[in-house]
Amino acid sequence: MDTLQGGCTCGAVRYSVKPGFRFKLYACHCTDCQTRTGSAFGLQLAVFPADISVSGDTSCGEYSAPSGAQVKVFGCSKCLTRLYTTNDRNPLAAIRAGTLDNSNELVPFAHFWVGSKQPWVIIPEDAAALETQPRSPEDWVKLLGPQS
Ligand SMILES: [Zn+2]
Ligand SMILES: [Zn+2]
Repeated sequence: MDTLQGGCTCGAVRYSVKPGFRFKLYACHCTDCQTRTGSAFGLQLAVFPADISVSGDTSCGEYSAPSGAQVKVFGCSKCLTRLYTTNDRNPLAAIRAGTLDNSNELVPFAHFWVGSKQPWVIIPEDAAALETQPRSPEDWVKLLGPQS
């Protein structure tokens, strides 16, 4: 397992993720992710926050997820690229995987909330496609992880 490197658009914030527990990559097609990202889906890599090292000034935004969880979004203070989120009901942080330097090599293992995906997004046949998303921590582990 490699250390991952990533950063924001303007270069003021860089981060790395040291080897450790990582879920496989997933894409979320829920309408909240579409709104949050301003795009067609969220692409997320779940890791422990303690494995993330950040350099540069970040700002933190907050919102309530539909589940009621309080989510904190960390992004570059200068260019507002969002880098990762944490959640008060989940010990893992979600890296916005498009900010990783090797994002061109990343392929989502699973797709969530496919009922609300944009109609032009075609899910590859070999990827897991869920109408919703895993509910319990056990279901998350069963489907997505951990990477070795
Ligand atoms: Zn920036
Ligand atoms: Zn979502």
